[in-house]
Formats: sequence, C-alpha cells, structure tokens
Amino acid sequence: MRQLKMDDNFQNLEFEELEHWQSVNDIPEDVLKFIDDISKRRALYLYNDHNFYCPFCLSKLRNNFRCPKCHKSFKRYKDENDIMTSSSIESLRDCYFEYYYYVFDIQSEEVLLYILEEDISYNNPLTLELYRTSNIKIKEILHLTQNGYYELLNKNYYSYKSIDLELFKKDGSYNLDTLFLFDNKYIDYNSAYLYVDNLNDLKDTIYRYTKIWQAKDYLKKKMVRLSSLVYAPLHFKSFEYLMQNKLYNLAFNEGYILKMDSKDKMLLSKNNKYLKMLIKYNFGFDEYLALRMCPTLDLDLICFLSFNIEITKKIQDIANINFVKLKNYFAEHKYSEGMLVEYYDYLKLAQDLGFDLKDKKVLYPENLIQEHDKLYLDNLVIEDKNINKKIKKVAASLMDNYYEDENYVIKPILDLEDLIDEGTKQHNCVRTYAKDYANDLTHLYVMRKKSNLAESFVTIEEYHNKIIQARCKYNEAPDANTIKIIQNWVKTIKR
Ligand SMILES: [Zn+2]
Repeated sequence: MRQLKMDDNFQNLEFEELEHWQSVNDIPEDVLKFIDDISKRRALYLYNDHNFYCPFCLSKLRNNFRCPKCHKSFKRYKDENDIMTSSSIESLRDCYFEYYYYVFDIQSEEVLLYILEEDISYNNPLTLELYRTSNIKIKEILHLTQNGYYELLNKNYYSYKSIDLELFKKDGSYNLDTLFLFDNKYIDYNSAYLYVDNLNDLKDTIYRYTKIWQAKDYLKKKMVRLSSLVYAPLHFKSFEYLMQNKLYNLAFNEGYILKMDSKDKMLLSKNNKYLKMLIKYNFGFDEYLALRMCPTLDLDLICFLSFNIEITKKIQDIANINFVKLKNYFAEHKYSEGMLVEYYDYLKLAQDLGFDLKDKKVLYPENLIQEHDKLYLDNLVIEDKNINKKIKKVAASLMDNYYEDENYVIKPILDLEDLIDEGTKQHNCVRTYAKDYANDLTHLYVMRKKSNLAESFVTIEEYHNKIIQARCKYNEAPDANTIKIIQNWVKTIKR
C-alpha cells in the first residue's frame, strides 16, 4: 500500500506520490524490446498497387511475407489496426504512424497502467532517402483503484460508476458506444498490444480475483481493449466468472456486461453442452448473444445469426421467428447473410400493412426483394392515395428537361413503379424520395445508355437546377465523362 505522509505544512495527511516512469529512459529494456518486436514485424501496405512491402528496405514482400532483400519476416495481415498503410512509396515521407501499447507496473502493491505511444516516420531530415525511425513516448499513466482510476499526467479521476451511467440505459439495454469512447480516450484505435510478461505480479494487487494472468497466452497474440483491462476486471463479477471458465474472448470483449440472469447461468453452467461449445470455439460477444437467443449446437446457425446480431435481435422482436427455418429459407434461395437487413425491413413493412407474421407465406416469401418492394409501394399508397398521380404530374412537367445525345438519354422517373424499379436495379435508396418527388420537393431522373435502355445506369436527383446527387449502381459515383455530361445537361434544364 502507498505510504501516508504529512503535507509540507504538517497539517494534513496525504498519500505519497507514486513513483513512475518519467520518460522513455525509465522504460525497462524488456518493455522496449517487446515494443520493438511487434513494431518490426508490422508490414507496410500500399493502396496504389495493393501489395505488402518491407517497412525497412521498401522491397515488395514475397508471398510468405518475407523480405527478399533483408530477409526479415512479417506478420500476416489480420487486424487492420496492425498494419502501416500509405497510398504510395513516394507519399511515405508525409506519413506519420502512431501505435500504442499497454504496460502494467506494480509500485508498492498499487497498480499503474502505462499507455505508450510509438511514432513511426520516414521523414528524416538528415537523409534524402526514406528512412524509418521510431520514437516512443509515455502518453498517459493510469493509477488503477478498485472504484476508478487517476490519470497521473492529466490529473483527472474517473469512477467506474460514472462509466456505468453512460453504458447502461434505464430500460436494461446498453450503449456499446460508451465502451468505444473509453477505448479511444488515449489511442486512435480501440485496441493495442499488452505487455504480458509481468502479469503474474498482479496476483498480490486489486487484480487478485480477476485471474487475468491466466489469459497470458491469449493476450499475447491479440490486441486488447483498454476497457477490458481496467473497467471489466475491476468492476464486474461476471468477468471473473468468464475467466474461471476460460472464456477469454467473451471476457475481453464485452461479455462481462451480461447481467448473468438465469439464462446466462444456464448456458454457462459447468458441464453444460453449450459451455463446452463456447470454450471449444472461443465465442465472442455476438456469437454468445446469438446462442442466447437460440440455444443450439449448430455452429453454422450461430454464424448466420451473429453475422448482424442487432438485426437478428430486431427480427426476433418483431416476428418471434424459428431461426432454423429462417436459415434454411435463406439457404434455399441463396440469400447471403447481408440480406437479413432487407428481410427485417420486409417484416416491418408486412407488420405495418397488418399482415399475420405467423403465416408461413408471409414469413418466407418466394422472392424476398420483389415482395419487399411491392409492400413498400403498397405502404406508400396507403399513406397517400394520390401519390402515384402526383408523381406522374411532376414527371410530366419535367419532360421538358428530356435529354438525348449520341450515347445517352436522361429522363424523369415516370411513376411509382418506375421509382421502385430503379431503386431495386441500382441497389440504392431512391425509393425513399418518393414522397418528396410527389410533392415536387425534389426531382428524380434516370440516365440510360442508348445501347441498353432497359438497364439502369445513373440515378440523378436534381432540384432548383442543381445536381443534388448522381449515383451508379451500389451508390458509386459516375466517371468523370458522365459527370461532365450531367453537369452540361443541368445548365440547360428549364425547371
Ligand atoms: Zn527488407
């Protein structure tokens, strides 16, 4: 424990200031070597040719991630935070790369956590050639206590309870952005490497019940979140529970915020078949939530449901669906997991129209996209019976702006069906402008190639003789030549 001492006037007792590293010179050799080892294995990736390069001699790496010139070997790309990226070799001189590391230190049984920053740069004023230099500095030092932590450099105190207030909402749900903000407080990414060689020293500190040192091998290979090293182990009983069961992926990735209700306790009870599965595949938080929603030993089903866990939750809330049947339906129709978003959207539309969400024909339509678009249209018409009439009227008035040259035509979207069709073909959200279009609050056009008039090319939104947006399929921007044509056209339009 820290020593109490009298202040300078011998009036009050105060804690003795903890000794800590002041500069890079105080950082132990082992820690510097740990940083150096990670840093030297980080490859360089260039956007201009999509290849990996040696960050030292700038040679292109071989397929085995080895440098043909200096024979260093590099880590394969796994985590996007763990790679240096630049547009080209030439632009390296203007690049600054920042990397972060966490290091625990124990001083008189008190726990300090150092956040170290490594700055890598190629802009060496002493040489004309690109030359990699690395500098390490102390970004912040956290003095951790059971209830919160002090920033020794910024001189602030934060309690874990104040983080709770942000994280947990009144209705029992949680706001994960809070954790994201916490993890990004000192570093640019939400995770960093942890020095693990001294984790055993935490045994005689406030960490004694957390058993965090047991996860040494797991932590060695992965970048870790700050919240998982500070807030989770010191503030959540569930963290200890997950650690005891060696569910490291869950413990270090949000799993600790589970309330440990009867369902959690069932899934995580000793000798439970689900617990064995969790351990075997080292489930993360989303996979666990999927399992919680639908207890199953079918790993494919868990992958399917955890692909977009937020949407899966919403689907369950709206339709209380049988997930096995849903997965089979997706497989039969060759829909990818990405289509779960459209599926949810479809269910919501069906619900708004008063359809029976227990009816199999409603739950599993023959053609999801077509049915989705049909319901969307129905919904619009119910909202405004005259919407199609109004669109046709606006479109007719825009026919004056019809454009045609050797290769292209530009014409207004003619009616509601035309609008829905364009959105489906282009995979864009033009249909959500239907109401505005009907009320003459925006103008919608399609640009088509004369060689293929049936196929969509560019969707254009114009208003007051200005282009609001022009998008190709999947919301991609048109090429320069096409943009020029559109810009010239918009100068000529009459209303
Ligand atoms: Zn090299």
